[in-house]
Amino acid sequence: MAFEGLTERLQNAISKLRRKGKVSEADVKEVMREIRLALLEADVNFKVVKDFVKTVRTRAVGAEVLESLTPAQQIVKIVNEELVKVMGQEASPLNKSPKIPTIIMMVGLQGAGKTTTAGKLALKLKEEQHARPLLIAADVYRPAAVDQLKILGQNIDVPVFEMGTDVNPVEIVRQGLALGKEKKNDYIIIDTAGRLQIDERLMNELAQIKELSQPNEILLTVDAMTGQNAVEVADGFNSQLDVTGVVLTKLDGDTRGGAALSIRAVTGKPIKFIGQGEKMTDLDVFYPDRMASRILG
Ligand code: GDP
Repeated sequence: MAFEGLTERLQNAISKLRRKGKVSEADVKEVMREIRLALLEADVNFKVVKDFVKTVRTRAVGAEVLESLTPAQQIVKIVNEELVKVMGQEASPLNKSPKIPTIIMMVGLQGAGKTTTAGKLALKLKEEQHARPLLIAADVYRPAAVDQLKILGQNIDVPVFEMGTDVNPVEIVRQGLALGKEKKNDYIIIDTAGRLQIDERLMNELAQIKELSQPNEILLTVDAMTGQNAVEVADGFNSQLDVTGVVLTKLDGDTRGGAALSIRAVTGKPIKFIGQGEKMTDLDVFYPDRMASRILG
């Protein structure tokens, strides 16, 4: 289960206060030491942990907690509020173009779940907004990515524009955009190539596709299971492409929590959606407050 270790450790740390009537500064310090370790063990970015602990500690040695008859509850409240803050406070809606089409460019490393997420997003738009999305298959390097998108498209009844794997992806996008505009699709979702790691060729190609398509949204898909690596990947993509949002996938797995808690603070970009399974319906809007509640258990 996701966050299992983190939830247990946070609860244990705070529960020690429940046995006390009134708490001292030293008690708060001890709890904060344990919270710090719990976050580091959950693979949260070092600097994020440092700032988080400092903020919570400052609030917790104030009257709110020390004078309280229910100090543990007060600390839970503070930790909860600061978790929500570190994850961006509010949900971030998808950017929408004032006139159709809204163009969404999906980017990410191979295996993160980019192609699957492109399909999930198309289905979500279709079901929730009665939209008529078009998918463009421009991931020509991963074997079978084009076929995978075609099959996904058939399953969710969304058209997929593809030109096989022998055509330059920038050209595929050019023609796909022209078709989408002609057919008056309201959303065009471009599935771009990923690689095993960030490299210059990949970034150049993505920069060209960005330049050509002028997307309203560049959604970076990262795998929550990869922890701080996901955060580094997000930072790398963001510095080169200035992404507009992140999709955190595989939160149905036993991820420790590091990516969910670090990405916003490290990159400044919001997590917009979370993937919670392999089915096409397993994509949800990311709500920082719900995630904080889930983490605190
Ligand atoms: P891409 O290389 O980034 O396009 O990755 P794919 O979309 O092909 O996804 C790689 C694998 O991850 C596939 O087996 C997907 O079914 C799986 N996957 C994607 N998103 C999720 C998710 O949210 N949860 C789980 N459990 N698996 C996912």
